[in-house]
Amino acid sequence: MARQQMQQCKSCGTYCLTTVCPSCGGVAQAAAPMKWSPEDKRAHLRRRLEGVEEDGWPKSLPTLASDEEE
Ligand SMILES: [Zn+2]
Repeated sequence: MARQQMQQCKSCGTYCLTTVCPSCGGVAQAAAPMKWSPEDKRAHLRRRLEGVEEDGWPKSLPTLASDEEE
């Protein structure tokens, strides 16, 4: 499985969703590199920074205003 869906043919430049070009049968590869990794390597640091594992954290989350819940 390709890492991202949008592929571009190396031969004719056609965009497609497969790794084989539907126009010329050439090899298509990812049209652009992914901007970030789906595996968030710093998630544990971010959780610690925001205090996610502390007791009061759920109460700090924003909620809907009461007049919007009707
Ligand atoms: Zn092609």
